[in-house]
Amino acid sequence: MAHPLQSLSFQSLFDAVADAMLLITDTGIITEANAAALSLLGYTAKEIAGLKVEVLVPERYRAQHLKHRTKFIRNPEKRPMGSGNELSVLTKDGKELEVDIGLSPISYQEKSYTLVTFYTVAKRKSVEQALRISEESLRLAKKAAGLVAFDFDADLKMRDTNEQLLAYWGAEQANIEQKSEKIDIVAVPIIHPEDSAIRASAIRHATDPGGNGELKVEYRIINPVTGDLRWVSATGRAHFRDGHATRLLGVVRDITEQKILEKKLQDQHAETETLFAKEVATQTASAIAHEINQPLTAISAYSEVALHALKQKVIDSVSLKRALEGCVAQAQRAGSSLHELLSFLHKGEMTREQLDVNNVVKEALVIAKSYGYSDFHPVLELESNIKPVLGNKTQVLKILVNLLRNAVEAMREAEIASSEISITVRTNANINMAHVSVQDVGPGLNYEVAKHIFEPFFTTKPKGIGMGLAISRSLAEANGGQLWLDPDAKLGATFHFTLPFAP
Ligand code: ADP
Repeated sequence: MAHPLQSLSFQSLFDAVADAMLLITDTGIITEANAAALSLLGYTAKEIAGLKVEVLVPERYRAQHLKHRTKFIRNPEKRPMGSGNELSVLTKDGKELEVDIGLSPISYQEKSYTLVTFYTVAKRKSVEQALRISEESLRLAKKAAGLVAFDFDADLKMRDTNEQLLAYWGAEQANIEQKSEKIDIVAVPIIHPEDSAIRASAIRHATDPGGNGELKVEYRIINPVTGDLRWVSATGRAHFRDGHATRLLGVVRDITEQKILEKKLQDQHAETETLFAKEVATQTASAIAHEINQPLTAISAYSEVALHALKQKVIDSVSLKRALEGCVAQAQRAGSSLHELLSFLHKGEMTREQLDVNNVVKEALVIAKSYGYSDFHPVLELESNIKPVLGNKTQVLKILVNLLRNAVEAMREAEIASSEISITVRTNANINMAHVSVQDVGPGLNYEVAKHIFEPFFTTKPKGIGMGLAISRSLAEANGGQLWLDPDAKLGATFHFTLPFAP
């Protein structure tokens, strides 16, 4: 029995091959092209036969191709063409297709031919494979991050029905995906009434050709069936062509848990602030009570004596006078105590005296240590014979002690062993003021924290109150100076404050 292949013609085999193939002579003339080659290159069998193979080579490679072909004819061997370079073939209508090319020399009736094979399918397959892998890893990454992608076209309709996004919107239960028309980004999800304007405006801005195309918005979605509220964060980017938004792509993420946590923190913070405000009010009230309690008691006692005398109708004008004088004195004492207290609380009305800053620094070190901030090593650089400054000693001490306390706490928190605090006192000739710097070797402050440290109640410490620096700055200002954080400090944190010299 004859082998079945023997009954097949070369042409029918040639045509049956899935890859595009050409047979060319050693002078580079195309003699045969199989069906796949004709379909790939867009020629008919008649048109292609007799053409120089260089017709299929993009013009910029032709001269080079000719050289390589001549070399190949001299030393024909079965090998891929282009040794790993990207190759392209020119179709009849001038399109360039990326291909891998295999060359096989064939001898027939003492003539040599080359069989040229274009591998496009393999290439496409490998690209598809790579794409599949990359899509898969993207899908996994999105899943891990809890992200759902969205893709909307120019009129803000979903490009392809995205089940995940619909589920996100709660549309699944409401059977919205059953509708045949394209799904609308604006109309479908039920947005919380307080957030719908924000979301609409964010989408409008993102798709405005005058803007930067960025979408970033947080809003609440109401589940149409259960009525549940979920917080969603959408991040995306619009693409524009000819001054029009053509597409809006991005991801949404459920941030409900995060929002709940944020709210809890805010509530806690508010509660702490209220507690603190109450504490301040209580302390102020007790201070006032403390100041006027004694005089009031005394006034009451004097008044009783006077009343008693009046009741007894034995008017002893001397003791009455003494009682009334006592009342006046005590009332005045109460008044002046209150005045002192208020002038301590209010800036501007305090007493100022000539101070030796070097001495005040030394005293502040003693006070800080007595408050339990003794685990540091002070490095003093004092300007001897610095001119005396004019200031309120208690307040200047308060500034220094606050700065020392912060420095020690920062270094303790960071568990820094060699807790060194350098304190420098010098004359700042530019502004003609005494200039005090307090530098620690702690972790310093990052930009975000540094922006807020002088705000009342700003603290990064679990038990902090966040008033130290706010008070210190207003004390420095009340004394005619300034207090600031060195933005360029190389090491740790450096705070500076100034005080005016006595005239
Ligand atoms: P509190 O000490 O009560 O938190 P402060 O007003 O004294 O309030 O300080 C506010 C914040 O500034 C601190 O919580 C801390 O984050 C930061 N800070 C202040 N001094 C330093 C420092 N020397 N090093 C690092 N951070 C500091």
